[in-house]
Amino acid sequence: MTKTDHLFGMKINALRMPEVIQQLHEWTHTPSAGCRFVVTPNVDHAVMFQQHTGLQRAYSDASLVLVDGFPLLAAAKLLGRQIPERVPGSDLVPALFESTNPNSSPDNSAGNRCLKVFLLGAAPGVADRAAANIHLRWPGVKIVGTYSPPLGFETSAAENDTILQRIAASKPDVLVIGLGAPKQELWVHAHRHQIAAPVALCVGATIDFLAGEKPRAPVWMRRVGLEWLHRMLSEPRRLAKRYLRGAWIFPQLVWQEWANNSGAVSVTPLKTGQKRPQPSGSP
Ligand code: UDP
Repeated sequence: MTKTDHLFGMKINALRMPEVIQQLHEWTHTPSAGCRFVVTPNVDHAVMFQQHTGLQRAYSDASLVLVDGFPLLAAAKLLGRQIPERVPGSDLVPALFESTNPNSSPDNSAGNRCLKVFLLGAAPGVADRAAANIHLRWPGVKIVGTYSPPLGFETSAAENDTILQRIAASKPDVLVIGLGAPKQELWVHAHRHQIAAPVALCVGATIDFLAGEKPRAPVWMRRVGLEWLHRMLSEPRRLAKRYLRGAWIFPQLVWQEWANNSGAVSVTPLKTGQKRPQPSGSP
């Protein structure tokens, strides 16, 4: 795992989807000191990352950091970064499930065994509906457990123990976490040494998508990089503030990074655990 680049202070793994899938399969049967976890930043996460030391620490310990959003990839290209493609969490999970299909590729070593998965997050009942859909569509995937933790679970030691015990009892190969950012990243980071799963994927609303609870953008919108617009229009009350904040701060981040690269202005480089400078009001 050598190909990495940097973007807005985040280390990014410059991998294509098939390379990521292959790596995840390898990790499911390779022991490690703690649960390896994958994060998939979008614009909102990149903006949050600048000020959130907990998120910075989580990202620095993540085994894979993959670009989720089209605007982030576009900025990476503009800045000359070597990041080949987006690997959004909501595509990664179905692609991983699809790879259990023996016919998915000629050299598919993963296609002959069952992939055991635990779904953590989403509203009560949603993960069970996702599990039913997954079993119908991907017979090589077995959902061995689901859990929708109650509101505020992250501050309850008893609730965290319950979650960890449920995961341990079902022995998944992969833990799919849909708790939204930054909760999912902070939770997996805090508990990585107790999570009894070799791999965890922090993938936001993916469980909702798999359950059919929230509609994903049509393929043409995903192809032209407008999935964010579809999401905002489908949940305007909840997401408008998030997107407006991104629309204001993200261009400033791009400018700051460009200026830093080109030597036009000096911006202090990020050290993990250190707050990044707040983007200035106008370039
Ligand atoms: N969620 C949850 N518990 C919480 C907070 C959120 O299960 O305490 C779920 C929520 O029901 C939804 C997902 O986390 O399924 C978050 O989706 P969001 O749209 O925020 O994901 P993102 O845009 O961060 O990928």
